[in-house]
Amino acid sequence: MKNEFDYLIIGQGLAGSILAYTLLEKGKKVMVLDEPKLQNCSKIAAGICNPITGRNLVRTWKSKELFTFLNDFYPKLEKQFNQKFFFQTPIYRPFQTLEQQQDWSAQEDKATEEVIYPKNRFLEKDVNDPLGGLLIKNGGHLRTDVFLEVIKKYLIAKNAYQERLFDFDELILNKDSENEKVAYQDIKANHIIFCRGAADKTNPFFKKLPILPAKGEILHINFDKDEKTIKKLNKIILNKGCWLVPYHNYLNGKAIETFTTTFRTGSTYNHDDWTLESTQEAKDEIETKLQAVLNLSYKITKQEAGIRPSTRTRYPLMGTHKDYPQMSIFNGFGAKGVSMIPYFASEFAEYLFTGKELDKILRINKWLLK
Ligand SMILES: Cc1cc2nc3c(=O)[nH]c(=O)nc-3n(C[C@H](O)[C@H](O)[C@H](O)COP(=O)(O)OP(=O)(O)OC[C@H]3O[C@@H](n4cnc5c(N)ncnc54)[C@H](O)[C@@H]3O)c2cc1C
Repeated sequence: MKNEFDYLIIGQGLAGSILAYTLLEKGKKVMVLDEPKLQNCSKIAAGICNPITGRNLVRTWKSKELFTFLNDFYPKLEKQFNQKFFFQTPIYRPFQTLEQQQDWSAQEDKATEEVIYPKNRFLEKDVNDPLGGLLIKNGGHLRTDVFLEVIKKYLIAKNAYQERLFDFDELILNKDSENEKVAYQDIKANHIIFCRGAADKTNPFFKKLPILPAKGEILHINFDKDEKTIKKLNKIILNKGCWLVPYHNYLNGKAIETFTTTFRTGSTYNHDDWTLESTQEAKDEIETKLQAVLNLSYKITKQEAGIRPSTRTRYPLMGTHKDYPQMSIFNGFGAKGVSMIPYFASEFAEYLFTGKELDKILRINKWLLK
């Protein structure tokens, strides 16, 4: 009984954490195995959720469902765990070109309760926004490192977490037994779910899936002066070529600052280098973009790298293995894990419990049949 579970989840990034939380809250017995020494891109992510993206400033796929869900999900967890980690912060996108500005102003009816088109420059000083820009109200950012620690503590309290390196050689899949369809070392479970992020690129059961790891690097920077512009930058996420997100200091695990001079900025995309080394090229690329939008001096205090579990389809991947009904994967959230995972964890739980079909675009079996 002690080591028997409904679901064994491998990986405690955002995908494994939020799926485990969702299953536990629905009364299931869950065990999460994670090896913290491995790369976990969730920990270093900027955590931005943005419903309007791309050069053409269009709504992201399923943005209505995703943002309705997440704007309830994260604040609900903040209350449950009495911890601040989600910041509902508007995103300011200065127009890049005159054409973009004209396109937008020709369709001012696009301005909804979600998007405001400021007629004047929003930041005025120190920021290169001569054409003005859009203010996207329904944006925000998650302090992913704080969130993951909160969920880890919750899992430990529920006896649902162990620090362990999962080794495929020790996995036993019992095809015939009614229960205990999965055995792993001393653990027995009815179902195993892989949430190993980019590491699932080499998962022997799912290696045909179109996972396309994408390295990303970000910088932590500190502005030395308490300038008026920095006060304004505290209230938004600036996004022009790169993004700039306020990074609050915590004391005893609680948010103590309403104002900070520390920010994170980035990020880069590299499909060829899957190491976690910080590179000079990435630093130069981010700084060039930052200096093109911001005319303020700063110091770099840290550079970090992580590998996103992107996919060739640009959509997440989820479902059960065609030959092993006791094995699933929940992965491929690319650069949008913060906005996608809460909604899809709930959809995926429904799929596991009732067999409710997943959106066609997410299904994995077409890849496994190839
Ligand atoms: C620089 C950068 C900036 C980003 N910014 C944003 C952003 O602003 N907004 C956004 O939504 N997303 C952002 N992302 C993307 C975001 O990080 C991902 O979408 C998300 O974190 C993916 O979560 P995951 O759980 O699938 O993978 P991961 O976070 O990589 O977690 C995988 C976990 O599996 C564990 N694991 C792997 N193999 C094993 C094993 N054999 N045994 C035990 N454990 C194992 C690892 O230890 C890790 O904990 C960014 C990513 C990067 C790199």
